[in-house]
Amino acid sequence: MGLPDLRAAFPGRLFDDEAAMAPFLTDWRRKWTGRAIAVAQPDTAEGVAAVLRWCRAYSVAVVPQGGNTGLSGGATPAAEGRSLVLSTARLQRIRALDAVGQTVTAEAGVTLQQLQDAARESGRLFPLSLAAQGSCTIGGNLATNAGGVQVLRYGNARELCLGLEVATADGELWNGLRPLRKDNTGYSLRDLFIGGEGTLGVITAAVLKLFPLPAGQAVAFVAVPTPAAALGLLSLAQQRLASELTAFELISETCLQLVERHGAAARRPLAAPSPWYVLLEVSSAQGKQAATAAIESVLEAALEAGLAEDAALSTSVAQCRSLWALREDISESQGAEGPTIKHDIALPIARIPDFIESTDAALAQHFPGLRLVVFGHLGDGNLHYNLSPPATGMPRADFAALEAPINRLVHDAVADAGGSISAEHGLGVLRRDESARYKPAVELRLMQAIKQALDPSNLMNPGKLLVSTLSCSQPQHRSET
Ligand code: FAD
Ligand code: ZN
Repeated sequence: MGLPDLRAAFPGRLFDDEAAMAPFLTDWRRKWTGRAIAVAQPDTAEGVAAVLRWCRAYSVAVVPQGGNTGLSGGATPAAEGRSLVLSTARLQRIRALDAVGQTVTAEAGVTLQQLQDAARESGRLFPLSLAAQGSCTIGGNLATNAGGVQVLRYGNARELCLGLEVATADGELWNGLRPLRKDNTGYSLRDLFIGGEGTLGVITAAVLKLFPLPAGQAVAFVAVPTPAAALGLLSLAQQRLASELTAFELISETCLQLVERHGAAARRPLAAPSPWYVLLEVSSAQGKQAATAAIESVLEAALEAGLAEDAALSTSVAQCRSLWALREDISESQGAEGPTIKHDIALPIARIPDFIESTDAALAQHFPGLRLVVFGHLGDGNLHYNLSPPATGMPRADFAALEAPINRLVHDAVADAGGSISAEHGLGVLRRDESARYKPAVELRLMQAIKQALDPSNLMNPGKLLVSTLSCSQPQHRSET
């Protein structure tokens, strides 16, 4: 075995010098780092299949990687350095755009931003939207079943995908690029690869759904007294706006303070502080005035019912953007403040107020002084339930030592509430073992059976998502910087 064999099997771009490989060996948050024998960057689906055939012949593990923005360590190779990173960055073509059928066929390495732009140029909307969209790829979005801020209206990556092309662990190409909205012809193989985090095969292209571009949008930043009031406002907005409600985000006062401190040119939109806020977006096919009128009528009813205490309404695109920045800058602002402990959890929506109240209280009792940084996609039942050290400071090592017991407390509470410990970031290595703790044994056995059937040699991203039945190492975990 050796790279000369691989060069013969795969004539595309391949590199193995340390400096060129370095960006592919550490994740976005710099939480994990690994080593690899080489990085291969095919520019065709057939090239991907050729690399996988070589990997199978020589029993080399493959780590698929798109934009390397994943938050669970799924795209970082193991520390022992015997795997190959397969970067999809050069699978860059948008193969077709069908404005009538409202579909686009794009290769896996197209970035989310590029796809959104191509859709907009043809007068259509590709609604998946998240802060990493300039770097993350369609392949990575599908492999992690990414969510973001428009799931409430348009669904997550899985719901936006009609068909896939996949290079299998055997190095075959499966063309499942069907643009069909109805297709009941057996098991949905597509849905195994979506959310599969590269453990079953490499997605090389996808057919994705497009939507009409909204003619007008309006955004409100609303002060609400409690999470229960925020939920009341959600019900009211859903009833009055139906599918015109395109985002409903919860933000705590602590989050807003962090953004004020660290965010670029962030300004508080409301005079008086409130313990909680909601960012609400309305999109209308009738234009800006209709969107504004719809949001005003909801706000009026909410103020009257005591669900809201004050609200700022955007009247221009620039103002909409600056309200959205207050939400989108939270993660980065929390990171700028110091180390973080993060949870990406899903809950039955109606249980969220009780969950926040009881889990906040349990954390305050067992880990006094820590700051809770709670925000998220309330309309989807998805909270980013994060913690920062006390404002007065805490040695990094002491805070890092709290991560495991805090995870246990929070995730036990999530399980008790019937929730999930990973809503949109996947399992990778970050949540792999904890997930095995909470999933029923039968569910784990079925997942292992699928893995065994599609990747019997355990070469596709081994050690990620599932606790492996075969031995394998994993990337080195760094304490957070
Ligand atoms: P990578 O990080 O390269 O890979 C992620 C996983 O997918 C790995 O397991 C990898 O092996 C696998 N993979 C990648 N490409 C393929 C492929 N072609 N075939 C098979 N497997 C593949 N996520 C959300 O859901 N919502 C958010 O709001 C959100 N916000 C974010 C904000 C920031 C600033 C950042 C850094 C991340 C955010 N994320 C969010 C995480 C999100 O999952 C990723 O940004 C994105 O979906 C991953 O795409 P990627 O191309 O970077 O994949
Ligand atoms: Zn999110």
